[in-house]
Amino acid sequence: MSYRFGLIGYPIKHSLSPWIHGNFLHMAGLLGSYSLYEINTQDSFTEQLKVLRKDKLDGFNITAPYKQKIIPFLDGIDKEAEAIGAVNTVVNTNGKWIGYNTDGIGYLRSLMNAYPFDLQDKSKRILIFGAGGAARAILYTLSKNGFNYIDIANRTEDKAKELKLQYELSKTSLLSLQEAEQHLEEYDLIVQTTSIGMNSTQDSAIVSINDKLSNKNIVSDIIYQPVSTRLLRDALNVGARIHYGHTMLLYQAQYAFELWTNKQVKVDEMENKLLEQLEG
Ligand code: NAP
Repeated sequence: MSYRFGLIGYPIKHSLSPWIHGNFLHMAGLLGSYSLYEINTQDSFTEQLKVLRKDKLDGFNITAPYKQKIIPFLDGIDKEAEAIGAVNTVVNTNGKWIGYNTDGIGYLRSLMNAYPFDLQDKSKRILIFGAGGAARAILYTLSKNGFNYIDIANRTEDKAKELKLQYELSKTSLLSLQEAEQHLEEYDLIVQTTSIGMNSTQDSAIVSINDKLSNKNIVSDIIYQPVSTRLLRDALNVGARIHYGHTMLLYQAQYAFELWTNKQVKVDEMENKLLEQLEG
């Protein structure tokens, strides 16, 4: 059998997913291909999805801006993806499209791989910057995995409030970005999920890191382009431990590949190769 996978989104010309899944197929000893289906936002999404249905892919990924838009076109949705409200992976099960979200589990796996001992203690205090799609997935997965002490800092407080209510996070405090900045050192894990640090904001960080942080704190940034964001560089400079976004990219892909093929590939050895791809 030869698997057929793909990705829909816009723009996706520079996506590393074909490279990642090509490696996974090779490592798992499977035959297959991974194609890009770039759907321009001007095109009819419904018409493009008909093309995808005809192509009978075994599975595909969905990236921005279609992670929510895909939901009405599915035949079923996993309960985690439903709670997160976004789908980034579809599995074709006998012609039925079932939606999943692999971001939260991918994030948790990457973190556990980097800091296995720190995260055994579920009473660790966590601060999440952001309340967008990625934050929803990460917050949902962390809270379902027993982490109860998670605070949220977002520019728009109402979005954070909505998340706290929806996920019934009774112990969660909502902070302004300024308040969060003043209390950073109180958190064992600081997770940066906003888009600040990429593209035109590469020289900025969501907050200033101060020297009260030390190797007791882990600073995690899910941005992977650039690999080393301003926030991570500043955190390293004061001696904090850091966690890179490209590792989440690998592990969320690992989980998608598992859903499609029932095979788990080892991704540790791909981390450096992915770095070369991103930095090259
Ligand atoms: P999103 O749903 O659009 O959310 C964006 C978040 O960034 C919101 O919390 C938003 O705050 C905040 N934000 C945007 N501009 C801001 C500004 N000028 N000042 C302060 N906050 C600002 O995006 P997403 O899907 O969650 O993705 C966020 C980032 O995660 C992107 O960089 C994406 O590439 C990355 N990501 C990485 C992975 C991975 O595998 N490593 C996976 C998914 C996403 P408001 O609510 O106030 O607008």
